[in-house]
Amino acid sequence: LAKQKGRDHFQFYVASIDQEIRDRKQLEKDLSQALTLQQFHLVYQPQINLETKRIIGAEALLRWEHPVRGLVPPDYFIPVAENNGSIVEIGQWVLEQACLQAKLWADKGLPLRIAVNLSAVQLRQDRIVDDILGTLKRHNIPAGRLELEVTETSFMTNLSDAVAKLHTLNRAGISIAVDDFGTGYSSLTYLKKMPVQHLKIDKQFIRDLLVNEEDTQIANTIIDLGKSLNLSVIAEGVETAEQEYYLSQRGCTLAQGYFFSRPLRPADFETFVQGFHQKIEENNV
Ligand code: C2E
Ligand code: MG
Ligand code: MG
Ligand code: MG
Repeated sequence: LAKQKGRDHFQFYVASIDQEIRDRKQLEKDLSQALTLQQFHLVYQPQINLETKRIIGAEALLRWEHPVRGLVPPDYFIPVAENNGSIVEIGQWVLEQACLQAKLWADKGLPLRIAVNLSAVQLRQDRIVDDILGTLKRHNIPAGRLELEVTETSFMTNLSDAVAKLHTLNRAGISIAVDDFGTGYSSLTYLKKMPVQHLKIDKQFIRDLLVNEEDTQIANTIIDLGKSLNLSVIAEGVETAEQEYYLSQRGCTLAQGYFFSRPLRPADFETFVQGFHQKIEENNV
């Protein structure tokens, strides 16, 4: 009986793997057409200076509206795009869109800095530096208006190559943030070598801030590390007033999260900015 059951299980297992492979193949195929079929758009999440209560910028986040599956989360499709290399083309599209938006906002009197996520696969491309600088130039965007968010994995494959590229971008005026700080294979060596200006505390440490002792200590440690290395620290995933209060008291100067706003479409983002600044000014009089 056990043997019989085992075999059934095995067959079930094979069938489900088979299904998974087909699913994945289909997803890859759909993904390869998503750009042409204009299924991508960007949403923007405000980044707030906790001291001045001003919106200093926005993180651009990619959204894929699949005709059948609906909204596919980036955590699901970005790894697929990284695996088959299509992230290079998609990432370039993201950069173009973010620049177009930055230009539109600047022309409307909203000179916001836009943070764009840069995949490790993109950073490995030989052309990446020229592509980024060329895009800024074409859209007539000052380099200081762009921030690149890279993760610790970007430094793993070829540290000196990553350092050299980020240095060039940084010298041109682009700021660099380490995203999801503390979740990767962190080494303090690269922080010394990297031309980095911001550390982003991963949202997994913020979620249970003040509830979980370890998470609180990790957040504290990242804030202190930022202070001693002269890097500004931004907390992501801030959802409550308590978290916001604690972080600002503790010396974390920047934050983003649902507490302030979810990532928004450009028009909603503009409305949010107006309302937010109006509220702050009312509180100040
Ligand atoms: P990330 O860069 O760390 O972005 C932060 C994620 O946290 C976003 O998820 C954002 O929507 C979410 N978030 C913001 N505030 C809160 C909050 O208060 N609570 C919670 N629970 N979540 C919050 P999203 O948009 O689903 O993106 C997931 C990841 O996908 C990003 O993580 C980034 O690694 C990747 N990604 C998104 N857009 C791009 C892109 O254009 N290029 C690349 N290479 N990766 C991207
Ligand atoms: Mg990010
Ligand atoms: Mg992050
Ligand atoms: Mg993340």
